[in-house]
Amino acid sequence: MPLHLPPLRTGKPRREHGLISPVEGARIPFAVIEGEAPGPCLVVTAGVHGSEYTSIEAALRLARRPARGLRGCILILPVLNMSALRKRAIYVAPEDGRNLNRMFPGRPDGSFTERLAHWLVSEIYPQADACLDLHGGDLSEALAPFSLFPRDSEASRELATVFGLPIAVAAGGEGYTIDAAGRLGKPSLLAEVGGNGVWTEDGVGQLLAGIERVLAHLGMVHARPAPAGPVRVVTMWAPAADEDGLWYPAKRLGEAVQAGETIGEIRTLFGDVIATIAARDAGSVLYTLSSLWVNKGEALLGIGTPVA
Ligand SMILES: [Zn+2]
Repeated sequence: MPLHLPPLRTGKPRREHGLISPVEGARIPFAVIEGEAPGPCLVVTAGVHGSEYTSIEAALRLARRPARGLRGCILILPVLNMSALRKRAIYVAPEDGRNLNRMFPGRPDGSFTERLAHWLVSEIYPQADACLDLHGGDLSEALAPFSLFPRDSEASRELATVFGLPIAVAAGGEGYTIDAAGRLGKPSLLAEVGGNGVWTEDGVGQLLAGIERVLAHLGMVHARPAPAGPVRVVTMWAPAADEDGLWYPAKRLGEAVQAGETIGEIRTLFGDVIATIAARDAGSVLYTLSSLWVNKGEALLGIGTPVA
């Protein structure tokens, strides 16, 4: 299996797909769609988390998009971790138990996931004029569609507005795909649609419509896609469990919460409350852990608070 991607730009319109093994033990599917005229390169990744099916299905459909009418090229990596897809893993890569979306910029001599992150930072993101990383709620998470962008990047904020998911999180922090791409000066957006291991045509359609709007925004297609609805910018607070136990959320997806209000409890098997989680700020529930069991350190839910 080849170690490297084929050249993205050959000067001839084409659609090419295959498998590469840039990191020992990895089999990564790719697709390149090169348009008729030169132009920007959009990189679209999915399957950082192997059980976020709406995003994987959307990327696989994008890979079958015709090259006709396209300027520039689209590089699609629809399943960054095939073994996570095959094993229905949540959060982490089965190879080393690490979460790729916490490992950036990675290390060339590190564990499997660290080497994968390093490959993306050194070989893939530098070729991009913009990066979209598609996600959703994991098998154990319920989620209402939202996007995240690196909060210091105005071009990334613009991508969030163009992509058009109704809520956009101005995100800080390090170790994430969009943070790593952003540090290379690439406008980047992480889109979250679907959850609980369910994929729907509606969810796939939301992602594909957002991608078409981004292609138009970058001048890669002439068609005028349907405009996006209003996008509300928020900051997100995602408390992690301090204890192992049973998780009882007190709020539903999308529900409003007040500062100080109880948003959930962790209890023992015999019903004793061992942790009560109160909202730090007012906002609404963007996603929630739907699993009855929670392990210490796992995120319980995400609360979005509108930016003033
Ligand atoms: Zn994810």
